[in-house]
Formats: sequence, C-alpha cells, structure tokens
Amino acid sequence: MLLDAPRRPLRATDTPTPEPGPGQVLLAVSACGVCRTDLHVLDGDLPNPKLPLILGHEVVGTVARIGAGVDRFTPGQRVGVPWLGWSCGACRYCRAGRENLCDRARFTGYQIDGGYAEYTVADARFVFPVPDGYTDLQAAPLLCAGLIGYRSLVAAGDALRLGLYGFGAAAHIVAQVARYQGRRVFAFTRGGDADAQQFARHLGAEWAGASDAPPPEPLDAAIIFAPVGALVPVALSAVAKGGTVVCAGIHMSDIPSFPYEILWGERVVRSVANLTRKDGEAFLALAPQVPVKTETEPYPLERADEALERLRAGKVRGAAVLAVSSRQLPDLDPVP
Ligand SMILES: [Zn+2]
Ligand SMILES: [Zn+2]
Repeated sequence: MLLDAPRRPLRATDTPTPEPGPGQVLLAVSACGVCRTDLHVLDGDLPNPKLPLILGHEVVGTVARIGAGVDRFTPGQRVGVPWLGWSCGACRYCRAGRENLCDRARFTGYQIDGGYAEYTVADARFVFPVPDGYTDLQAAPLLCAGLIGYRSLVAAGDALRLGLYGFGAAAHIVAQVARYQGRRVFAFTRGGDADAQQFARHLGAEWAGASDAPPPEPLDAAIIFAPVGALVPVALSAVAKGGTVVCAGIHMSDIPSFPYEILWGERVVRSVANLTRKDGEAFLALAPQVPVKTETEPYPLERADEALERLRAGKVRGAAVLAVSSRQLPDLDPVP
C-alpha cells in the first residue's frame, strides 16, 4: 500500500520484492499494526517523509532472506520491526545511550519503507525477536503501542495513581502493565464514550470518565496519548504536587496557555520521543510475564485506509492491525 503524497488515499500496487543489503534482513510480513503516527504522516503533520512511502512500524514477519554480515537471525525466525529503524551510533545522544534522540535517526514507515506490505527489509540490529505465546496479530501492537507506551510509563516514575488520557492501543497495554506493577489506573476518554470507559474498567482501571472530568482524587502522574494539546493543562490540574505529565505522542495540537499555579509545586511536563533498543528488549521480556493481552481489530492489507479512518474517528477498540498474507518467495537463496 503506497502513500504517493500526504493527504491522499493509499494505493494498492505491485512493486519488486526488496533485496536485503548488507546488515539487513528481508521479512515476509504477516501483520502490521496501525498507529496514530501513521495518521500524522498521512496528514502531513510530520515533515519530509520518504515518498512514495510504505507506512507501518509495528511489523511482525518471518525472516525470508538475510543480507551479508547478519548473524543474529536465521530464515524462518519470527521477528518484529519497530519505529526506530536506524541510528548513527556516533552522535552525543547515541554515545550516551539515548539513541531515541539520535540527530540522524531514521524511522520505519516514515523515512524507511515499513510494513503495510507483503515484504519489507530492515536493519537487523533494530529488529527484535517476538515473544512466544502471541499470534502475529496480537504481537504487532506490542511493537509501538506497547513499547513506546512502556517508555512513557517509565517516564511517569513510581507514580501510584496513574491517569491515562486517551484509551486506545497504547493505553490498553499500559493499563495492564501498570496494574501488574501494583499501580492504580484512572482512564480518561472522549466525553460520552461509554464503550471505551467500560473497556478501560475491564482492563483494570478503577475509574473511567470523560477527559475534562476531574479524577476522584489527585493523580501522581498522567500520560497523554491523545494528540490534543488542550489536555496538558487539564492533566496538570489533575496531578498532585510533584506529579508528572507525560506527553507520549509524536504530534500534538498547540498547548493553550495556563496559569503558573497548576505547574507550581514541582509538577513536571515532559514528552517521550521514540524508543531505544533497550526499551524494546525490556518491554518484550516483560509483556509475557504480565501477561499483556492485546485486543486487536484485524483488517486485510488492502483495507488499510479504512483501518486508518476508524482510528481517526476513535472507533477502534484496542489496536487496529493489518493482516498480511504474503505469497511464497520464488527462491530463498542466501544473498551473495
Ligand atoms: Zn546518533
Ligand atoms: Zn507508533
């Protein structure tokens, strides 16, 4: 499914199967999660995407061919490709273990072709083995919603009373991890979205209500997954002194001005950007222990546009995932 330019429908087309270069693996894709970031690329909120582009950065597939110099994986192994597709290893962030902030980072489904396809190539160093016990469809949302959700949860510190603003793919995973860690979860949804509130309670939230409603007691931290800047002062007003508000999305509408009084008391507002491979290893080891159960809404690959529009409308329960059935490769010879 090709994106020719922002704000255009995706186009189903046949392209040559890519060749894995040195250090890369070719994957036969079996599932790819649909993330809000895909909508931001589609809408032109994120500048200068590769064009034409294959979206998708929650890719689960099977290693089909291996490029020169790859010794981490063998053909037939099930792996996942996340948003961080490449980092330079040399800039001051990379050297400090903060490759999520790499000055020259490249991202899957944005600057590198992603997983809305039957085949994709990825840098083997940024690919994860996928834990057993998950189907391909269930595993896909772990790779961004789960992984960046987990990074956001870590950024919330040891907060006991945790607010989650926007109860979509990421929150439905984070709620389960937070409960496993013994935290109390308060879920905020669009006003009147009784289904989402019921879903949140089902996943362990002790309270669920509209995003503009005050929680029954002050929070110690809040994570904002919805791309709505107006929620920043709302969440700040809901956290107690010393509390943290984490903005977890890659793009947000403008944040309205707010009185200093709601930041006073050593409250913190911060963002979370991307992921490190360490986050991925930590979360993919933790998920089966919880165990995180993902709720997915499957769509065939060629109906990606429909999945994206359902996501935009806030109608997806859990995570939308594209189910991909690739044809057999004509040959599986090693790449010379
Ligand atoms: Zn770097
Ligand atoms: Zn994502």
